[in-house]
Amino acid sequence: MFETRLDRVREAMATADVDALLLSVGPDLPWMIGYEAMPLERLTMLVVTRDTEPTLVLPSFEVPRVVDRPGVFAVQGWGETEDPVELVAARLDASAGGGTIAIGDHTWSRFLVALQHRLPDRKWVSSQTVVGDLRAVKEPHELDRLAAAASGVDRVAAALQGGEIPLIGRTEAEVSAELGRRILAEGHAKVNFAIVAAGENAASPHHHPGDRVIKPGEVVLCDFGGTTSEPHGEPGYCSDITRCVYTGQPPAEFLEQFDVLADAQRMAVEAATVGSAAASVDAVARSRLADADMDQWFLHRLGHGIGVEAHEDPYLVDGNQEPLSAGNVFSVEPGFYIADKWGARIEDIVACTADGPRSLNQADHALAIVEA
Ligand code: ZN
Ligand code: ZN
Ligand code: ZN
Repeated sequence: MFETRLDRVREAMATADVDALLLSVGPDLPWMIGYEAMPLERLTMLVVTRDTEPTLVLPSFEVPRVVDRPGVFAVQGWGETEDPVELVAARLDASAGGGTIAIGDHTWSRFLVALQHRLPDRKWVSSQTVVGDLRAVKEPHELDRLAAAASGVDRVAAALQGGEIPLIGRTEAEVSAELGRRILAEGHAKVNFAIVAAGENAASPHHHPGDRVIKPGEVVLCDFGGTTSEPHGEPGYCSDITRCVYTGQPPAEFLEQFDVLADAQRMAVEAATVGSAAASVDAVARSRLADADMDQWFLHRLGHGIGVEAHEDPYLVDGNQEPLSAGNVFSVEPGFYIADKWGARIEDIVACTADGPRSLNQADHALAIVEA
């Protein structure tokens, strides 16, 4: 798997006329070689040139963390008093090319600034130039992992909708913590977020769950996801789902609005076919909400790509005319947010396939009514 990925990266480097690729902290590195850099001040950096074996430069005492992948990359440890920036730069001096360098877009600026100082005549571009399209089109085994991640959070959503997770009388933060524990129990290595927003707090799309106590007769919006744990140091894949429940019988006005939202979400999923412009899928959901005069409450884009990173290309947003490709995986998450009153969102992860859109999340889309 990693060998073919390296081949494809080198092809992309040639196409983009990039001579070297440098990857440090962030998702590009685990995606490419199955190793995640420690996000600390000591530099870890994979150096990929077009003509030499890729080399992972990292602190010597962290070498035991590396899972060897012969034929994919070599390892060069650096001692506590050595200058790792110099080691990386020397590798670039030695390689044939040297014009344009692509650097991981999560790399700390202290390292980029030092490298630019040491290599003043190079042109610097983002790693997205090289790996962006490769990461956005999932390989079949990546699709399987994203589907497994989605099934994991589907089961957590089902527990929420089935009333197994007590709500009334608990704080948002307590419910968030329980969602987090359940995400881990479903095979995730870490929780990326567990938004719980009750009543008027649901009008804030990225609400931070706090000590607000959940009461009877209000909406509770839950948006949660994590990153799976995979064997042999392989990268984990992300999940992300939003479902809403109501503590008691909802008012007719909310039910009507929620029906329109569910309709908009379903129509947008159906529109996510190969070749459709990303913006057009956003427009489908937005115009359904507009029919009910609700589009002014839909405050954000329709969705984001997902993979080893929770948010990545492609973005389903007005203005993005890029056509969807088979293998793209993204969220479809319309919502409505009425300040000081309430809000709702429905979110699934959807794979664009040659056979049509496939929703990886299968948890019930209806508004669940829970009495406890
Ligand atoms: Zn969000
Ligand atoms: Zn979400
Ligand atoms: Zn999302």
